[in-house]
Amino acid sequence: MRGKLLRLTEKLYWRDMYLKEFDARIETVNGNRVILDQTAFNPRGGGLVSDTGTLAGARVSEVVKEGEEVVHVVNPPMGTGTRALVHGVLDWDRRLRIMRMHTSAHILSAVVNGETGALITGNQISPDKSRVDFNLDNFDKQKISSYIGRVNEVVAKGLEVKTYFMKREEALANPGFVKLANAMPPSVEMLRIVQIGDVDTQADGGVHVKNTREIGNVIGLGTENKGKNNRRLYFTVE
Ligand SMILES: [Zn+2]
Repeated sequence: MRGKLLRLTEKLYWRDMYLKEFDARIETVNGNRVILDQTAFNPRGGGLVSDTGTLAGARVSEVVKEGEEVVHVVNPPMGTGTRALVHGVLDWDRRLRIMRMHTSAHILSAVVNGETGALITGNQISPDKSRVDFNLDNFDKQKISSYIGRVNEVVAKGLEVKTYFMKREEALANPGFVKLANAMPPSVEMLRIVQIGDVDTQADGGVHVKNTREIGNVIGLGTENKGKNNRRLYFTVE
């Protein structure tokens, strides 16, 4: 039985997505699994791989969500006890690439959806190579290069990427916002909204760049057929 009500980990990565280092207190340690009172490490989820880095000098190999808790997997296991003050450092190059890839994926999804009406059936955002799956039967090479060209036009506009919170019912009333909202537990009353200029607005828990210009150049890396109406598009940023 818990002796006290544990406060959920404060998501510093929501307050400031450019926070590279932070101090926190340990809430619980269980072998190599550490829960902090606050963290800048973005956990795996929503198609994004997790951040990596160090915590009090120990390697953070992965960060996962368990319910609403954020669990840091560290190596070697942490010897320090509860309430100890620790310093966390993100692998920033990796994280920045994840942010650039993630904002690109939103723009790509909006462009393909706008051109074809296709829905997104899955995505995987990694630092080196990312992919978005679309519910489409036809995806020829020429079309893909025109979609990527359109994405780069949007990127070059230097659109501001805003994040804010909205009541669940209000967000669900807008059909464009609901893609991820349905995956969120009904207990979540306020949804976090990510808005990229006038191009894409949706409920989203992941990390993004502040301005589309930071993405640089989006490059298509080919496609794959994944079932009858499922097309997978690979891309990267440089
Ligand atoms: Zn997203």
